[in-house]
Amino acid sequence: MNLSDSVEVLAGIGEKTAETLKKYGIRTVRDFLYNLPRDYENFASPTSISEMRPGKVVIKGKIDSLSSRRARRRNLSVTEGVIRDSTGAVKVVWFNQGYRLKQFSPEKEYYFTGNYELKNGRYSLISPSAAEVADIGTRTGLVPVYVAHGRLKSHDFRRLINKSRDKFNQIPDLLPSVAKGTRKKALFYVHFPNSLKVITPAREYLAYEELFELILAAKLNRQENEKLKATPVPFNKDKIKEFVASLPFKLTNAQRLAAWEIFQNMEHPTPMNRLLQGDVGSGKTMVAGMAAYEVFLSGGQIAMLAPTAILASQHYEGLSRLLELFGVKTALLTGATKHKVELKKQIKNGEINLVIGTHALLTDDTEFNNLTLAIIDEQHRFGVAQRQKLLLKSPEGLAPHLLAMTATPIPRSLQLTVFGDLDVSILDEMPAGRQPVKTKILKEIEIEEKLYPEIRRVLSLKPDSKGKGHKMHGQQVYWICKAIEEGSMGDAPVSEVTSVKKRTKRLQEVFPDRKVEFLHGKMKPVEKDEIMERFAEGEIDILVSTTVVEVGVDVPNATLMVIENAESYGLAQLHQLRGRVGRGSSTSYCYLLTSGDTWPTKRLLELEKSNDGFYLSEVDLKMRGPGEIYGALQHGALDLRIASLTDTKLISKAQKDVAEFLKKPEDMVKYKELMSGITKYQQITTLN
Ligand code: ADP
Ligand code: MG
Repeated sequence: MNLSDSVEVLAGIGEKTAETLKKYGIRTVRDFLYNLPRDYENFASPTSISEMRPGKVVIKGKIDSLSSRRARRRNLSVTEGVIRDSTGAVKVVWFNQGYRLKQFSPEKEYYFTGNYELKNGRYSLISPSAAEVADIGTRTGLVPVYVAHGRLKSHDFRRLINKSRDKFNQIPDLLPSVAKGTRKKALFYVHFPNSLKVITPAREYLAYEELFELILAAKLNRQENEKLKATPVPFNKDKIKEFVASLPFKLTNAQRLAAWEIFQNMEHPTPMNRLLQGDVGSGKTMVAGMAAYEVFLSGGQIAMLAPTAILASQHYEGLSRLLELFGVKTALLTGATKHKVELKKQIKNGEINLVIGTHALLTDDTEFNNLTLAIIDEQHRFGVAQRQKLLLKSPEGLAPHLLAMTATPIPRSLQLTVFGDLDVSILDEMPAGRQPVKTKILKEIEIEEKLYPEIRRVLSLKPDSKGKGHKMHGQQVYWICKAIEEGSMGDAPVSEVTSVKKRTKRLQEVFPDRKVEFLHGKMKPVEKDEIMERFAEGEIDILVSTTVVEVGVDVPNATLMVIENAESYGLAQLHQLRGRVGRGSSTSYCYLLTSGDTWPTKRLLELEKSNDGFYLSEVDLKMRGPGEIYGALQHGALDLRIASLTDTKLISKAQKDVAEFLKKPEDMVKYKELMSGITKYQQITTLN
């Protein structure tokens, strides 16, 4: 067995299962073994049913009388049954877990653990987790819980990993300087702990390996980048001062500092590789504009890549007006651009200094005369290959300086470690006069009574003074739904979620005198742009949309946002979405709608409390681990599953060991497994 073999070599994994696993990024044996439990259930010492007390219980028994029904209210699915042991019987209920119907067979024995509580006037076991007694076999009642992937539930992963038990022996060590067999032992204990005590050190070892790989990858990246050549851009203090003085506002200190860091960086003959991160609305575009001006002064060309046509034209409108005054010839290049051939000629012969565009910039026939700076906005929206394409457009033998921008704040703890070898500028200060968005959690049943009147009120408020639309009646509203068409449905069955189209219809009935339209990812780009433009113009009052509006669109007159099924989004994403409002001078509101079945999650409570993206990213990191942040930051990147980047002790150990390891680069080839592992991280920690 090879760790890089397809999962299909493992017992019990056929074509169909492999297909499902692949969808969730589990392709190889390695991926499968590193799909670690998210938690453990302790089924040791179950209680007999007759002795159960309210609260968390573990019982062991057989289950029968299983059936599913839809609750009348709000489309909830309810699966019920009866669990029996030799002492008695208890009712069991699951909500929205229809698959439970098929999980059990009546003659087999299972462990169940969950809350025994009063529900609708009767004590029942509520949504317990369950494991087949035979599956646990030699385990000591300690059972791993895996994240469900589509139709593959935790118990399926348990069954499959059980079948691969004997394979662990073949796992080779990864790192130099550890005792033989450390890795396989650690992996085995994590999946098959024989006591609670073994889990922590095993995970810690795996985390250490992961950090080692990650830090090594970052260091190698930096070394590689330093081998490249770029055109140095001299700092032109007087001209920059003049430009800054012409701006309609005063730069924030954070903007000044970031610009200065960029100027310093571009003076070198090696390419800048810098990430500019700042919360939504912190003014990243202007920093990019200053960098562009500086490069223009040195005679170089600048390309600015944005993920959508709307965003590209917003940047174009914002920057070209200011820059043209200083002689910078600026052009917009999107799919909809007319006279493309002519424009591309001007780019090629250098008549155009700054091109702002979308993917249209990346085609082979877009050639530059002297591309010196590449700016990528919302860089996580682009794949590695796309970014690479842009970077290859500089003159032979040279790489452009790269300024990547993101509104996903990276927690500071992560910056020092993972991104320690990446240059980062931070805008941690908002332009003066911004008002925080008033955020409130609402239950779905409060829509009619509380939310509709509030929307009606906002729709009739005087348009915001910063709004530029010509057709505005009043202020405007975003209503975000989990679209059925989007792949981001998570585990929620389609029927539990109100779709964009259904919600639009409903709102059209409730607000017949207003224009309600929808937007989603499956629409053609031109259709999307048209809707967005009409919304910006004030022609649409309520825009019902999926998360496609997430990207930095600027409609200052939109002052209220509703996020339906708020509990199903990550914290970073919710914060990003919310950043679409609060861009004008009026007070803005964000309503987070939840089903109200359960207590609001910590995520939502934190969001209600804070408007600070950096603070929220720290909270997010603590709650979910760093993997998700990477996921959001880097398109298609693999996550860090194990390491906690708040573990500074482990990090400094890994850093020290990497430095030691790098002293003998000739040794590196010896560690094949390590080298193939870090390739993956190199893609994450590099921007190019
Ligand atoms: P983001 O960082 O989200 O990309 P933008 O660059 O789109 O933010 O800026 C948001 C808004 O703030 C724009 O309308 C921009 O003109 C304005 N802005 C930028 N810098 C300042 C500043 N220093 N003072 C006031 N307004 C500013
Ligand atoms: Mg932006």
